[in-house]
Amino acid sequence: MFCLHYILVTNYFDSAATTTVDSRVLDEYIRATEAYQANASSVHRLGLEARKAFEDARRRFALALKVKQESMVFTSGATESINIIFSSLLRNPSPGKAIISSAEHDAVSSFIPVLKEKGWEIDIIHPKKGKISAEDLYARLDRNTKIVAIMAVNNILGTVFDIKSLTSVTRRFEKENGKKIFFFSDMVQALGKIDFSLEDLDVDAASFSSHKIHGVKGCGALYLKNSAAFTSLSRGGGQERGLRGGTENIAGVLAFVKAVEIYLKEKEERDERVKRINSIIRDGLEKEGFKILSPEDSSAYIISYVSTWPSEVTIRMLSDKGFYVSGGSACSNNSKASGKKILTEMGIDAREAEKSVRISLSKDNTEEEAYNLINAIKEIRNV
Ligand code: PLP
Repeated sequence: MFCLHYILVTNYFDSAATTTVDSRVLDEYIRATEAYQANASSVHRLGLEARKAFEDARRRFALALKVKQESMVFTSGATESINIIFSSLLRNPSPGKAIISSAEHDAVSSFIPVLKEKGWEIDIIHPKKGKISAEDLYARLDRNTKIVAIMAVNNILGTVFDIKSLTSVTRRFEKENGKKIFFFSDMVQALGKIDFSLEDLDVDAASFSSHKIHGVKGCGALYLKNSAAFTSLSRGGGQERGLRGGTENIAGVLAFVKAVEIYLKEKEERDERVKRINSIIRDGLEKEGFKILSPEDSSAYIISYVSTWPSEVTIRMLSDKGFYVSGGSACSNNSKASGKKILTEMGIDAREAEKSVRISLSKDNTEEEAYNLINAIKEIRNV
């Protein structure tokens, strides 16, 4: 259609950091960029057409996630979605208690010192054996608690947290005490990896990112169950009903929606394929005596293991052989130290965390690539 050819990235095992763009999504991005060149806020015909396309994208996105259209706010990525939540919280004149899991990505945990500075009481909840128990959370809730922030799927180990059971006890506490608690879940690594219904999960807010699901970078979403009750600090030109100012990224959003729709259509096939590849990698690593850090019941899309060398060395050696993985240091060089901290806070031994390597999968990986990766891991072990 629009792109004459795509460069296929092979042996790419770093999809939790970012996925490669699906060719059909890229086509949609290019089509939409050409079709909607006007500003969606302009009142002339071209602006109105752009607005219509953008609102149609919101309708389709909300339909895909089975929520109300008004509850979806488009942003530049999950980091911005999370910033909207926490920076608005910081404006609250009477700080309270925030319960935040120790498994959170920097996008969330970097707010902890700022919240403390503003007088918030921070209660860090640690996963035990890869789980955050509803009883543990319930025991921490008190009349001062204003927010709970627990991610749905951890980006380093792939651990899946049972958000439904966690919101259930939070709602129970609310009823018993006649008090509202805002439950936020960072669902960046959940979309495209696990089945969920936002309505069932009963969260107040959730963050999503396009580039983790084969969309383009620089686009995300914020789900706000009750946006009317929310005051955002992200002002500007009043876009997104005043919740997020800034000219809308129409092509990025249309591409994001396309990526989500394609995922929903191909979900079973993708999950089956990734499960098969996950087994090949898990079995291969275990057979070679490597310790796997990701719990058995984590998302099949993420496997972290303890390599022979410090993470950075293993990553470089594998890269030299043409295989692309990450460290337990999450998705960026900038957050290396915090990645290790997250692992140790999740109960991983510090020496193992130093050597942890994350293999993250997508629909595009093949079984052959998985066998080749295991061979490469074997080869670099005793160099
Ligand atoms: N939350 C999690 C769990 C992530 O893995 C990432 C990835 O970088 C982010 C938030 C930030 O997402 P974005 O790159 O869209 O800002």
